[in-house]
Amino acid sequence: MASYGKQYGSTYGVRELVRQIEAAPMFDDGGKLTLRQLTTQFRDIFRRSEYSKLQVLGATTSGEKYLSMNIRSEVKSAVGPWNYQTWIVLRRRDLNNPFTMDSPAEIRCTCPAFHYFVAYADWTRKNLAGRPSSWNKVAAPIRNPRTIPSPCKHLVALTFHAIRKGII
Ligand SMILES: [Zn+2]
Repeated sequence: MASYGKQYGSTYGVRELVRQIEAAPMFDDGGKLTLRQLTTQFRDIFRRSEYSKLQVLGATTSGEKYLSMNIRSEVKSAVGPWNYQTWIVLRRRDLNNPFTMDSPAEIRCTCPAFHYFVAYADWTRKNLAGRPSSWNKVAAPIRNPRTIPSPCKHLVALTFHAIRKGII
């Protein structure tokens, strides 16, 4: 450890390196995209996917007074008599800032499209809400060859629902 600075030809020693590490911001987005950025990329992955007629079955929020807010809802499947669970987490660094489309976001949906097309890409950019399953860590070279993070159509429907309801 004592030779660290010398090893990399640096003029500062270990103490200076520790100081720099401690001075780094605690909250590191690590490249986390905002909800707006994620939504913008939806059409790159799902070219013909229709979300405007999807039924959002109520949305609940929690944590809106804190540094992260959860928006959850069931969204009715377009192809069958079942619902998918959608979940958006919005983050902020300061309690005075509102949650908006420009908040760093994490997203998750229980539908197959989310699972097969974007879960891995979302996970790689720290945009996956909740704990990743082992399947979430498997790339999708055919369905999403450029690993573009994006929501599925159910999450887009929830996003526009949240805007209409004044949640964000
Ligand atoms: Zn979905």
